Amino acid sequence: MSAVLNHHELEGFSEELHELLTSMQEEVRDELHDIEHVRQLLRSIPPGQTELQATLEVAKRLDLEHLRHHLDVIGRCNEALERINRGRYGSCCRCGETIELNRLRADPLTECCLTCQE
Ligand SMILES: [Zn+2]
Repeated sequence: MSAVLNHHELEGFSEELHELLTSMQEEVRDELHDIEHVRQLLRSIPPGQTELQATLEVAKRLDLEHLRHHLDVIGRCNEALERINRGRYGSCCRCGETIELNRLRADPLTECCLTCQE
């Protein structure tokens, strides 16, 4: 288990992860805003307009799925940054082997090597 990632590469990943984190946090903020907006709309619909209400329910559900996904990415981002801090970034979480650099570049949130993923 060698430290294959040099300081420069680690910094690059750290920067990328921070950017991803920031953009995800912005997405979540926007989505919460949208959900709040839909909620207000739902409240303002007079009773009897069930079709419109159903449509808005769908919109709300879609937003929640995005929100859940983004929150998941934020969690994984934080974990990856934590791994960088502990000097464990780039090592497979299961077998401890070095994760292929190309794999990390394709997805900086990757936690395990290709062999363990399969
Ligand atoms: Zn592995």
